[in-house]
Amino acid sequence: MPKILVTNDDGIRSAGLEALAGALEAIGDVIAVAPLMEASAVGHALTLRHPLRLEQLAANRYSVDGTPTDCVNVAVSKVLRGRPDLVVSGINKGANLGDDVTYSGTVAGAMEGALLGVPSLAVSLERRSDEFDFTQAAAAAVELATALLTNPLPSRTFLNVNVPHGRVKGLRVTVQGRRNHVTSVAEARDPRGQPYFWIEEGQTRWEELARSDHHAVADGWVSVTPLSPDLTDHAALPLAEALSLGREAGVK
Ligand code: MN
Repeated sequence: MPKILVTNDDGIRSAGLEALAGALEAIGDVIAVAPLMEASAVGHALTLRHPLRLEQLAANRYSVDGTPTDCVNVAVSKVLRGRPDLVVSGINKGANLGDDVTYSGTVAGAMEGALLGVPSLAVSLERRSDEFDFTQAAAAAVELATALLTNPLPSRTFLNVNVPHGRVKGLRVTVQGRRNHVTSVAEARDPRGQPYFWIEEGQTRWEELARSDHHAVADGWVSVTPLSPDLTDHAALPLAEALSLGREAGVK
């Protein structure tokens, strides 16, 4: 049986993690190592300035009081004592689409797996209310996990999977979408009269982009986007070249 590491950013107690781990037990030996507290939107953060505590909560269930990236590293070096065959992060309560993948702790968990050379995927379920039915997302995770174990993608490539709420039409391979970034910062006063701020997602309007992950999910398809930690904009290389050559000439 392949060894499967499950993590998430919603925390070890999230029902999404349990649904995912339970479903993956059909195809492998599953060990979950996940943040003790919710760590949503921490991105790919690594904890370097305070100690991390590893705690076993049940058979094959461990918490780390850190980020998803911390969890993957602690799992590989201290729990599994070696690399797993697959890393699966999720199932997140809420989609991770378009530019939002850069904030996502769920996606970062899979990205860390990919950086360690392990086939990896992140799975998120669209939020429509506080009620989540993880059945279809878990089934999609098992289907794609099985496929990745048989046919691994190039090293460092991992999958970002987003599952729509309600009935699913099938799987669609997509590209990362783009949304407007109107983030509102709400202001209120604490009991001592001091101002505090609360970041809120503002209006989310999406660019019309053929094959985008957002459109696939909006149309009822499971969106499967291959991602890579390499953020290089290859099309912009000649432009950057022109910029730095210009500067070099100017310095003289
Ligand atoms: Mn989350």
